[in-house]
Amino acid sequence: MRLAHKTALITGGNSGIGLATARLFIQEGARVAITGRNRETLDAAKAELGPNLLAIQADVTDIAATERAVAEAAAAFGKLDIVFANAGIAGNTPVGGTEVELFERVVRTNLTAVFFTVQAAAAHLAPGGSVILNGSVHQSLGSPGYSAYAASKAGVRAMARVMASELSPRNIRVNTVVPGATRTPIWDRIAPGAEARAALEARIATLVPLARLGDAEEVAKVVLFLASDDSSNVQGAEIVVDGGLTGAP
Ligand code: NDP
Repeated sequence: MRLAHKTALITGGNSGIGLATARLFIQEGARVAITGRNRETLDAAKAELGPNLLAIQADVTDIAATERAVAEAAAAFGKLDIVFANAGIAGNTPVGGTEVELFERVVRTNLTAVFFTVQAAAAHLAPGGSVILNGSVHQSLGSPGYSAYAASKAGVRAMARVMASELSPRNIRVNTVVPGATRTPIWDRIAPGAEARAALEARIATLVPLARLGDAEEVAKVVLFLASDDSSNVQGAEIVVDGGLTGAP
């Protein structure tokens, strides 16, 4: 039980990597609050994970709603030890033909909201606390169509280091998990339909040394390490979970 007596908040905990992490945290003894916009998937997570899960409907791009969600979780648990700022969206933003609204939505969800989630949570985090940000290998890849997403995730990486400096005096750690292609519902929007999805997965597999996409559980295990006292001297670091993609020649 690596998270016995710990409490956690996971934004975007009703799907994909966030949900896999909520499951693992609860298995390891934590009480977990998740946020998301979709009531149906929040309710499904609650039905599956039971009394140690608090499901809060909140849009991370609404800063006041985020503050309320963090306060609700801290009040329900009496303290907050772990924050996984995970909620994020993809978004196809090629240089030619991207509307301002889409570009700003991607940056607001993936970067601005991460900052304000941590700001809201920092007021409640106990000494020894752990903040984990969800980055992406796109922070440094030059994949076509990813301008806003890459910028948002590179911003997360830069921000994590500053936050680690600022929160070190309170013995709060801030680290980033950097997933590569991971099989979650986010891909349903990038490549809708079984055929397009299979073609995309096959193409990705040719680029990845381990020749496959990862699973959400494989990212969750790294988040667990960063959340737990096993990583008590890991600060301002990033751990890449990409099957070797970014290290490939
Ligand atoms: P999913 O689409 O499965 O999950 C995204 C989560 O974010 C959902 O729970 C969604 O909930 C939540 N979310 C999105 N927008 C908002 C919002 N405005 N307010 C609150 N919650 C929101 O995708 P993943 O699990 O793959 O993505 C999780 C994170 O992992 C993201 O930050 C993504 O960028 C990152 N990542 C994923 C990779 C992959 O290949 N899967 C690779 C690298 C990074 P709801 O819709 O209910 O709001």
